[in-house]
Amino acid sequence: MNIFEKCESNVRSYCRNFPDIFHRAKGSIIYSDSGKEYIDFFAGAGALNYGHNHDYIKQKVMSYLDADGIAHGLDMYTSAKEKFLAKFDEVVLSSRKLDYRVQFCGPTGTNAVEAALKLARKVKQRSGIFSFMGAYHGMTLGSLSISGNVGIRAGTIGTSNNVTFMPYPYGFMESFDTIQYIKSVLNDINSGIEKPAAIIFETVQAEGGVVVAPIEWMQRLKNLCDENDILLICDDIQVGCGRTGPFFSFERADIVPDMVVLSKSISGYGFPMSLLLIKPELDVWEPGEHNGTFRGNQLAFVGATAALEYRESCNFEQDVKAKELFLKNFLTQQILPISEKIAIRGIGMIWGIDMKNFGGSSLAKNITSRCFELGLIVERAGRNDTVIKILPPLIIDLVTLEKGCSIIKEAFNDCIS
Ligand code: PMP
Repeated sequence: MNIFEKCESNVRSYCRNFPDIFHRAKGSIIYSDSGKEYIDFFAGAGALNYGHNHDYIKQKVMSYLDADGIAHGLDMYTSAKEKFLAKFDEVVLSSRKLDYRVQFCGPTGTNAVEAALKLARKVKQRSGIFSFMGAYHGMTLGSLSISGNVGIRAGTIGTSNNVTFMPYPYGFMESFDTIQYIKSVLNDINSGIEKPAAIIFETVQAEGGVVVAPIEWMQRLKNLCDENDILLICDDIQVGCGRTGPFFSFERADIVPDMVVLSKSISGYGFPMSLLLIKPELDVWEPGEHNGTFRGNQLAFVGATAALEYRESCNFEQDVKAKELFLKNFLTQQILPISEKIAIRGIGMIWGIDMKNFGGSSLAKNITSRCFELGLIVERAGRNDTVIKILPPLIIDLVTLEKGCSIIKEAFNDCIS
C-alpha cells in the first residue's frame, strides 16, 4: 500500500497534501517515520503558537500527570481550572481592563462558535446573524452557516438559518464602503433582511486568504453594532493568542467586542480547548442550557496556564513583531519581484502569498507540494485556494524561519522556471 492508500483506506486525513507519516515533533520541526525533517509553517492551523512539545509547558503537563491530576472533570470545578482562570484573569483580562466571563465550550473551535450564536440569539431574542463574505467559523451546522467559502459548504445541504453575508473589505469591495452598506440595510425596513442578534467577524480572515481588516473598519463596525443594539462577536480562534502580536487580535483597533471566541493555541500545547468570553451582563444562560461532556479539558487547562506563565516570562509580543518584519521583508524583497501579479498580505506571524492572478490555485498547489518535497509544511487558503498561507509557530527561531522562507523561494524558482 502506498502512503496515499494507507492514509485513505479507512480515514480521511490531510495526506493528500502531506503524504508522509509523522511521529515526533519539537519546536518548529516535525519528523516523519522515514526520518525526514519538515519545518512547520502550518502550526496546526494556528493551534501551535508555542510550537511542538514546548519544554516549559511539557514539564508542567508531565508533573500534573505524575501527581495523578484529574484527567477528566466533566465541567466540575477543579484546581487545574481554577489556576487557569486565575492566570487568564491576571495575564490577559485584568491587565487589559477587560471584563469578560469565561465559558468553556466543547473541545474544538466550532463548539465555542455555536455557543456564541446560541447565546446571542437568546440575549437579543432575535435569530438573525450577519457574517462576512469569505468568513470561516467552523464545520458544524451553525458555524458552517456563517462560513462563506463555497468549497467548505459544498458537503452540506441547507445550512443557512437566517444568516446574511455582508461584504468584507476585500477584492473589488475594498473601495466600497461596506459599513455604510450594512447601515443602509439596517435602516431600510423594506430590505427583507431582519435586524440580526449579532454580527460575527474575524479581524483577519485566515482561511479566507489572509485578509486583514483595516483598523477604522473594525471601529466603525463596533460603533454600528452599538448604535443598533446588535452584539459584536469576534472569532479570534486562529489569529488570537498572540498571532498578530498582542494577545487579542482586536486590540490593534482598540475595540472591545461583546463576545470573543478563542480556541486553537489557547491550550498552549495543542490540546483541544475552546472558550467563549462573554460580557457579564450577557451571561443569561440557565444551568444546563449549554453543556457537554468534554467542556474544559484538564490537561488543556494545565497547558494553557503554563503557556500564559511562559508568555509573561519573555518579550513575547516584541518577538512576534520582529519576526513580522522579517516575514514582510522576505515577501517584499524575494517574492513580490517574481511578478507584479502576485499579492502579499498579512500581519504579525500570518502572511499570505496570493497567486490568484499568477497561476491561480494550481500553481499555488504546485508550490506548496514542492515545498513539502523540500522539507516545509505550508498550506493553502483563500476563497479559491490561491493563497499560500505562512503560519509558523510564534516561537520559531530566526534561523529556522529563514530556512523555511528560502524553501518557499526555491519552490517558486522550481515551479515557474
Ligand atoms: N474559526 C476560525 C477563524 C478558524 O480558523 C477555525 C479553524 N480553522 C474555526 C473557527 C473552527 O475551529 P475548529 O476547526 O477547531 O472547529
